Formats: sequence, C-alpha cells, structure tokens
Amino acid sequence: MNQLARLDSASIPFIDLAAQRRRLGRSIDDAIARVLDHCQFILGPEVRALEAELAAFCGARHCVTCASGTDALMLVLMAKGIGSGDAVICPSFTFTATAEVVALVGATPVFADVEEPTFNLDARSLQRACAMARRLGLRPKAVIPVDLFGQPADYKSIAALAESEKLFVLDDAAQAFGASCGNQRLGAIAPATATSFFPAKPLGCYGDGGAVFTDDEELARIMRSLRVHGEGRDKYEGARIGLNGRMDTLQAAVLIEKLKIFPDEITARERIARRYSAGLSDIVTVPTVADGASSVWAQYTIRLASCRRDALAAALRQQGIPTAVYYPIPLHRQQIYRDFPIAEGGAPVSERLAEEVISLPMHAYLDEVTQDRIIEAVRHSLGA
Ligand SMILES: *Cc1c(COP(=O)(O)O)cnc(C)c1O
Repeated sequence: MNQLARLDSASIPFIDLAAQRRRLGRSIDDAIARVLDHCQFILGPEVRALEAELAAFCGARHCVTCASGTDALMLVLMAKGIGSGDAVICPSFTFTATAEVVALVGATPVFADVEEPTFNLDARSLQRACAMARRLGLRPKAVIPVDLFGQPADYKSIAALAESEKLFVLDDAAQAFGASCGNQRLGAIAPATATSFFPAKPLGCYGDGGAVFTDDEELARIMRSLRVHGEGRDKYEGARIGLNGRMDTLQAAVLIEKLKIFPDEITARERIARRYSAGLSDIVTVPTVADGASSVWAQYTIRLASCRRDALAAALRQQGIPTAVYYPIPLHRQQIYRDFPIAEGGAPVSERLAEEVISLPMHAYLDEVTQDRIIEAVRHSLGA
C-alpha cells in the first residue's frame, strides 16, 4: 500500500488525492486554521471529537486514535501483555506491519495461508498454525486476521476457532475501515480492531495516523496510557512502559472533514469496482466479495498467469497507466522472517497469489472515461 504514484499530467494517478483535495476545498483549510488558532497540537479537542465520530461510525464503544496503523496493532499487543514465548498467527499474504509488530513485542509470528477467492486468512491453516506453535513449545495467544484490499476476513470461522483455541482476535483493518459483514461494520466485530489513516488508505489523513476500536473499556484505558509513554495518573508517573504514539491534532482535524464524505466515497469505489468487473471478468480472474460482506476497495486486484502479469504491467506503463503488485513476496518467503515458523502444509496459496496478482488504479474520483481507457488497455494488451 505504500505507493503514492505521482506521475506527469498525461498519466493516470494510481490514487488521486488531488481530486479529493479539490472537492474538500475550504473545509480542510478552515479545519487546519482552527487548530493553528488554538495551538493545542497534541491531544487537542479535535482528537476527542474524532474518536467519538469514528466510534459512532463503526458502532464500537471505544476508539483510541494513535500515530499510525502500525502503532495501533502494537498498542493492542502491548496492552494484552503479549511477548516472549507467545505465538501470534498472521496470514503470510499481507503487508509487513502485520507480522512486524508481533516480532517487535518479542513474540513469535507464525504464518498461515490465505483463501484463494478472498485473499484472506484460511481458518483451516490457522488451526494448523496453532498446532505448529504448540509443537515448538510456544503458547498460541492471538491471531491477526487481515481484511486485505478492503474486504473483511471470515470472522465467523475465525471466531469459532479462536474460541476453541483461546486466541485473542486482533483485526488488522488497515485497508478496510468502513467495510462490513452483514449489518456490522469492522470495528464492532472483533474484540479489537486496528486501522490506518495513511494517505493511500480508503480513509486517509495528510500524514500518518491510526486507531484502535474495542468494546472493552479496560483495554481502551490501558491503550490511552500506552500511547502517552505509559502514563499513570499524570505524565510523570509511569504506570507501564509505553510509546510516543499519539495522533496529531492537525491530522484529527483533517479526518473529521474527510469522514463527512467517506460514505459517499465508499459508494463511488463500489460502483467503480463493479464497472471494472463487468469489463474484465471474461479475460482475467476478477476479485470476489464473500456473501454478506462488503469491501471498501482499497485495491482492485485481478489475477492472471505470472508471465502475462508482468507483460501487462509493462504494456500499461507505456500508456501512462500505473499498476502495483501487492504483494510480490509473501512474508514467510522474506529474509527477515525466515526464522519464524509456518503452518504445516506451508502457504502455497500465498505463493501463487504473489505471482499472479496485479492491482489497477482505484480511487473514488476515477471517472468513467478514464476507467474505460484502463479497461480497454488491459483488454488490448491481453489480446482480447
Ligand atoms: C498500511 C498497513 C498497515 C500499517 O499502517 P501504517 O499506518 O502505515 O503504519 C498495517 N497492516 C496492513 C495490512 C496495512 O496495509
């Protein structure tokens, strides 16, 4: 996700933050000016206001904002006391931050495979990962399902298994804030949900930012302490080892304005995803959304045989159409994670997806003419 393609004027942007900026106009300038007037740059009034609005938006009791999506994941693991000797199961087909935080708190990430149609954690592989962890003398403590590309993981199957294995479920919704399962939004589904407001995510600020959602008051209280160096009754009485992990007031002010148009942007992304699928489903494998779930389409990701994938990327680049491969190397294949275990049976689906996936430009301001140009270019370069 960490690519903000900036291209010349003839090129199509991969994500068009400038178009959104034009739409927001003065409202963003005014919101920033208000912060510049009151000068409460750290944990100012906008931070509290945003937390209340985000919690209401997704139906969670508590929202604790923080400095990034990575810190959001960290805060939960730290608050749950997860560390040395503990195993935390992560899908292998995800961004590095999902597993990085596990290693950072001194616990062991154990990799599991994903399901082919949704790219999300496979509950059967999760079970095998728990068995592997135990065999290695580790205590399986938590699982971090990822809602990849904007679509919720299969929380029904995962919750059932988490209950029998006594795992805490931490949802990595960095790419999927706003998505839902049935009539529940992410944030209200898992015991804790972490999200990111990195500019390229579906709801992004103008820098780094993140949040954790939970119904657990005690967990929220501990995370509010952890994000301010583990403060106790005040900043100078330490209650625990913590972080400098707060969200800036300026970012909160920006997000309050962006949240107002977010439902409309989600609708636009859904419409654009439907048009892509209508134009491409006869020539490539288009993404599928599970029954009863909705996606916020952080990415629109198609699949095709690897040699054709790389040729497609080159052909599109020549026509000023950027693409991206999320993710070219599954985590269990990366050098930095080579000493960590993997579920029995490995992660063959993650390996296959890494060879076959390619994401097309996707944002709420992609107009139909531009989208048709992209669809035509894909069809033409695949000989359709
Ligand atoms: C972006 C992302 C993160 C990290 O969020 P930051 O705000 O960049 O720290 C974590 N997990 C996934 C799946 C992501 O895509």
